[in-house]
Amino acid sequence: MRFLKGNINRKIKLLFGFLVLSISLTFLVNCKSNKVDGVEEKNRVDTGSAKDTSNKNKTESKDSLKDLSDVFKLHYDATVIDTHNDFLYQTFKRGADLGKRESGIQSGLPRFKDGGVDMQVFAVWIPGSEEKHAYAFAIEQTERLKKFEKEYSDIFEIAYYYEDAISVLNKKKFCGMMGIEDGAAVLNDIENVDKLYNAGIRYIGLTWNKSNRIGTSARDESEGRKNAGLTDFGRKVVKRMDEIGMLVDVSHSGEKTFWDVVENTKGPFIASHSNCYALNPHFRNLKDDQIKAIAERGGVIMINFLDDFINEGGKNTRVASYYSKYKSEIDKMYSENNGDMVAFNMKRYQFMKDNPIKGGTSLDDMIDHIDHIKALVGVDYIGLGSDFDGGIIPPNELYDATCYPVISARLFERGYTGEEIRKILGLNFLRVLKQVCSKN
Ligand SMILES: [Zn+2]
Repeated sequence: MRFLKGNINRKIKLLFGFLVLSISLTFLVNCKSNKVDGVEEKNRVDTGSAKDTSNKNKTESKDSLKDLSDVFKLHYDATVIDTHNDFLYQTFKRGADLGKRESGIQSGLPRFKDGGVDMQVFAVWIPGSEEKHAYAFAIEQTERLKKFEKEYSDIFEIAYYYEDAISVLNKKKFCGMMGIEDGAAVLNDIENVDKLYNAGIRYIGLTWNKSNRIGTSARDESEGRKNAGLTDFGRKVVKRMDEIGMLVDVSHSGEKTFWDVVENTKGPFIASHSNCYALNPHFRNLKDDQIKAIAERGGVIMINFLDDFINEGGKNTRVASYYSKYKSEIDKMYSENNGDMVAFNMKRYQFMKDNPIKGGTSLDDMIDHIDHIKALVGVDYIGLGSDFDGGIIPPNELYDATCYPVISARLFERGYTGEEIRKILGLNFLRVLKQVCSKN
């Protein structure tokens, strides 16, 4: 799109004064490209002087980010997407309200806004108690999110296609999408795949920790209980998902199931919330050959914030949460900066550096997983899938959904360019969404 615009600009210069009609047509094309590809436009505006595409390299290079203030500005301008969040379960379990900043909850619209998050894929997780009527439960959960959409229609909208997502993001509204964490929701009826799609579900995590009618889970396979991979029914399910434009999510899938997915699908697929086995040999993490297979297909691996997936034995080294320890200091910084999120983040980030918590899992531990994937396959296959509100204990500096800017800051400090940071924050997932979940 940028290349197209550069050509158009040059043509305007050449023909200006001669071809009024040509200019009008060019204007129309430009209007269309802004509308359709608003996210790219947003990126360009962020870099300050990037309207002239010749400045692209200059503005997108590491050098253009001079300091952390620039990085936080980039963060709030960038499209930030998280692909795995269990807020809907908190609504089911305890009546959590998406529009409120509730205590004991890690996300919700006010915290997403503070964290610069623009889009969240809400996962429908099936609790054991609901397993027998998992399909009906999944539909109920989609309806819960649609109810929130009505209630907060001025700031929140659900997207069903890539084009919807772009449109919602351009309206500066918070964008929701829906996925399922456990293909048990399909029951034993292949038609339920289409019905779930029609209800708005855009990815299905084939299994959760327990194997199901679709395939064997990472936990069962790693503990030697089952190793069958995809069942015949599971093969039909992933083929149907491929046909209708629903993303296959291999987080929680066993290795045998994973390789059966590779064999039985054609398009890109995702891991909505998984980390690297090479850094932490946990059954939920992906081995290097799996990461390579996802990248070869053009999919994305979204990094999970759970300490136990980041560090070996992470759950055994947990300490009090950073926010609970420094609540009064952080709340004071927040109120003093009166909505200036760049100023607030500058202070909070420095405070975190000056007052580290001993023990627990650190932000650096998590960034190591991003570095590992980058070194293995490149930066185009990395995203964020926090697992917030799924009972997780995140790294100290990522205590809730207001903390996404610290990820950008630390990536910058590790030498990532502005363009690379934007890809990880959201553009990589948008690429896959465009390929798999477009209207056309
Ligand atoms: Zn999970």
